[in-house]
Amino acid sequence: MHERRKMTNEKERVPRVEEVIGERLAEELPADRLPKPMPCCAGAGTDNPCPRPATVWIAREIKWASCDEHARVHELSDEVNEASLAVEIATNWRDIARAWKLEDLERKTERVLQELKEESLRAGARADLAREMADAPRKGDENPTLTREQDEQLRHLIRRSDALFNAYTTIEDIPEGRIEADARRPILAVLVEESDRATKEAHRYQEELGLKDYPREHAGPGPILGPRPVLVPNAYQRTPRKSLGYDM
Ligand SMILES: [Zn+2]
Repeated sequence: MHERRKMTNEKERVPRVEEVIGERLAEELPADRLPKPMPCCAGAGTDNPCPRPATVWIAREIKWASCDEHARVHELSDEVNEASLAVEIATNWRDIARAWKLEDLERKTERVLQELKEESLRAGARADLAREMADAPRKGDENPTLTREQDEQLRHLIRRSDALFNAYTTIEDIPEGRIEADARRPILAVLVEESDRATKEAHRYQEELGLKDYPREHAGPGPILGPRPVLVPNAYQRTPRKSLGYDM
């Protein structure tokens, strides 16, 4: 137990070059003769590796060196896995209660299940955002002028604005009759209002940070205030795929 905690929480630091060769030698050597710092292992071996130096060791089946940002992604991925496992367990409880026709127990387990599903969604969103930030330098999507907190906040606001806009267009695209008209109108009205509010909020924060044109690839195509295409494929209006000659 103690070993496990040590592996997950207290991360072993990757030493800096100066610590390995000694401060004095590091000062004496010309810069081009200094050993290179150990790189972060994310994307290693691909033609687009993480350019940051490694700062911590991550212990998995094998130990690998990681920058702080990718280490954070790993931590949050563990939380995502734990949250999914919790959902799976609660689903089993609910199904057992249902199978035994224990209605009161089924209601209670259903409530727990819903809470866990929400927590699982939040954990997934946190991990997605962390990954977006960790991969930013190798995708040419970095904002070196921002602090980590500012960058995180801005990306969160842009994601929120995009998600609301996509929710709006997705509902709007659902053919008449699939949702009751009485239900559709208030949903669309709320979504259009919230989407507009979120877009303005993201744009305001962007201006506050002195950014004119924030790189957009990370959070969906298009400028914040421009027309944005739908990110979510529309399940209801998919056009049949054209045969490319090798379809079965
Ligand atoms: Zn990295």
